[in-house]
Amino acid sequence: MNGHRMVCRLKLHEGAIVAAFSLLYLCCIAAPTSFGDDAEAARIRARVKAVPMNEKVKLTNDQWRRILTPAQFFVMREAGTEPPFKNEYWNNHEKGIYLCAACGNELFSSNTKFESGTGWPSFYQPLAKDKIVILADNTGGMKRQEVRCARCGSHLGHVFNDGPPPTHLRYCLNSVSLKLKATKGSVGVVDSEGIQPGLWRCQRAHRPILKIITV
Ligand SMILES: [Zn+2]
Repeated sequence: MNGHRMVCRLKLHEGAIVAAFSLLYLCCIAAPTSFGDDAEAARIRARVKAVPMNEKVKLTNDQWRRILTPAQFFVMREAGTEPPFKNEYWNNHEKGIYLCAACGNELFSSNTKFESGTGWPSFYQPLAKDKIVILADNTGGMKRQEVRCARCGSHLGHVFNDGPPPTHLRYCLNSVSLKLKATKGSVGVVDSEGIQPGLWRCQRAHRPILKIITV
């Protein structure tokens, strides 16, 4: 019974954190910013584009603010979280490569995307180990592993150890941190429940991580 109460309390706690993040997200993206497609933004974008893909992208916060949308800046540069089920890719079944929305780094393939039931796009492995970096994240009273783009340091989401085979990892990412480069002519196969046939469904969303993950 005590164990059950603890689980319920934990779930309520996590639910409150997600709700708080969602509220903060709405406040931040509604706030007026200097975002705009002005000449300075175009100059910074051209500078980022000119950096070879095997080199790091380093900009100041002010420069990131100019070229990212308010929602992207909040998630990618301030480690915010977008609301579940109200984002672009959580239920997207198009084939292609998911790029970092800030720097264009190729991060995840649609071949490793699965239905997690969390409301966020979820993958069981990155395209390559060196595409991302994993950092310990103890904010919000939870011990989690943060996922960042290895090229520009932008926050992508978190990784948990309750994913499907073959890795048993769940990279739970924010849609605003990603940009899908769709394979030409890809539509995606979806069954009557909106779930790709044969895909694994996570029944234990938001379960805290049980061990340190190394990738
Ligand atoms: Zn990046």
